Amino acid sequence: MPTYSYIAENSEQGCASCRRGFDLRRPMDRPALTHCPLCRRPVKKLVSSFNMPKITKPLSVSDAKKAGFTILEKRCDGNYEKL
Ligand SMILES: [Zn+2]
Repeated sequence: MPTYSYIAENSEQGCASCRRGFDLRRPMDRPALTHCPLCRRPVKKLVSSFNMPKITKPLSVSDAKKAGFTILEKRCDGNYEKL
């Protein structure tokens, strides 16, 4: 379950929790929290660098080569060709 960080939209208002920010675990399918569950003041979601989802996008061939990988492409005759 991802953890989201929220902080009061207006740091002058809100309770002790949301004024300094709080973390909340929420299922992905729930809408983002818009109000502090304690004081009902508006909160905004913080983008946290700790809980960023892992990037699963495949590397492009050139990126992989830059990173030192050898790219093998399967040819239609069943052999692998080094790119
Ligand atoms: Zn609050």
